[in-house]
Amino acid sequence: MMYSSSRGAAEAVPAAQAIKMGIAPDGGLFVPDHIPQIDSDTLTSFGKMFYAERAERILSLYLQDFSPGEIARCVRAAYNSGSFDDASIAPLVPLEAGVFVQELWHGPTCAFKDMALQILPHLMTTSAAKTGETDEIVVLVATSGDTGKAALEGFKDVDGIRIVVFYPQDGVSEVQKRQMVTQTGKNVMVAAVEGNFDDAQNGVKQIFADPEFNGKLASHGMKMSSANSINWGRLVPQIVYYVSAYADLLAGGHISPGEEINVVVPTGNFGNILAAYYARKMGIPIHRLICASNINYVLTEFINSGIYDRRRDFARTISPSMDILISSNLERLLFEVTGHDAGKVANWMRDLQTQGRYEVDDEVKQQIQAVFWGGYASDEETKATIRSVWENSGYLLDTHTAVGVNVYQKYLGASGDHTVTIIASTANPYKFSQSVAEAIIGSDRLSGMDEFAIAQALEEYTGKPIPAALRDIEKRPILHRTVCPKQAMGRVVLDYLQIG
Ligand SMILES: *Cc1c(COP(=O)(O)O)cnc(C)c1O
Repeated sequence: MMYSSSRGAAEAVPAAQAIKMGIAPDGGLFVPDHIPQIDSDTLTSFGKMFYAERAERILSLYLQDFSPGEIARCVRAAYNSGSFDDASIAPLVPLEAGVFVQELWHGPTCAFKDMALQILPHLMTTSAAKTGETDEIVVLVATSGDTGKAALEGFKDVDGIRIVVFYPQDGVSEVQKRQMVTQTGKNVMVAAVEGNFDDAQNGVKQIFADPEFNGKLASHGMKMSSANSINWGRLVPQIVYYVSAYADLLAGGHISPGEEINVVVPTGNFGNILAAYYARKMGIPIHRLICASNINYVLTEFINSGIYDRRRDFARTISPSMDILISSNLERLLFEVTGHDAGKVANWMRDLQTQGRYEVDDEVKQQIQAVFWGGYASDEETKATIRSVWENSGYLLDTHTAVGVNVYQKYLGASGDHTVTIIASTANPYKFSQSVAEAIIGSDRLSGMDEFAIAQALEEYTGKPIPAALRDIEKRPILHRTVCPKQAMGRVVLDYLQIG
């Protein structure tokens, strides 16, 4: 299988090359030339397999230039009991009749990003070796909070790779910030950017596209890659858990072979929900993909109107990992729904860049609306959902997953569609203790406490344990203190690499 650019002006490459490069040279995203299919018997056979075996089967369909041994090594290094605190890796937990939460946060950093970032470093070093790479790889990451820590954990002390993470100075939770600035490892750099996530992401994109910068690295035996969800090596592991969830529902007798399900995904950069879309295209019976946003609801509007317009105020919310106005992975969806019309995609992306908006044609809009349903939740609604689910089901939601549950309720109200549903749960509630505690304990009883004391109060109140990875992080030494304006991000990278 070959990967080409969603914008059409770059040569097609095998998976190893696409993963090593991260982003296509024309600024587009690497996309597969076709979507492999998975049949009903295979899905049934998955029922008896461990997560890692399911992952091997699915990755081998996409990474056809990898040997079975290479894939097995990558998968086993990632999805094991040393890194994940639940044997099923991505367990399904019933919330109410016919509705399941898929917990995607049992990895080392307690957010769903671990599902991909535990394996990406192995895919990347394998890709580098396969392509005869001798340069050192410098991974650049812009994070809205969770990617940064997950990437740091995945890449720390990996030979032949260095990693630089940029996060928006005031756009992440105290716990997220603390997780990053206490990061150990001999090949890691963390810096705060004066700006929001889009500033950080644009800064990284500009560095990638800067020929002079690339030349400087090349002359020092280095080249850049990306661990953001624009990297195909992050997307493909995410497809696995949707297939896995379907296999679990089948094996558990909750659905019969061929029965359709709905999938709800709290969405920011559109990576996670895009993986569910690819799973659907592979033949997993998925009826509706429900795209849940917070009040940065650029995607809700896009799904409803066909107009993508980022010219609006950026709002900080209690679901900061979804505070995004430019959802990069939407580009891959557009490539699929236009029947691989890279010229169209390139034009829309140019409009987005130059005018801050684009509008797709009716046919594309209808195709999207046939699969996707979009909705959003305000912070107040999100908190009310956390409280009501806690009171009614005894299940503790994080703020992002709560956006998903709220939008799912809106979807039910609008459609009356009671198809069996999976709601992707993207973070452990203790990553966002303050907002979760405010929702169920009330702000009055938390006044004067910092986020760490609040986590303890939440633990006492709910009896749900703080995960080991988050316990006592306030006591770890701070190792990274760099803060920079968005124009200086390139400088920060060069200084860290000690090249002029
Ligand atoms: C990254 C993230 C999201 C958004 O996922 P996308 O793939 O960017 O759409 C949602 N929730 C949490 C907790 C996240 O970390």
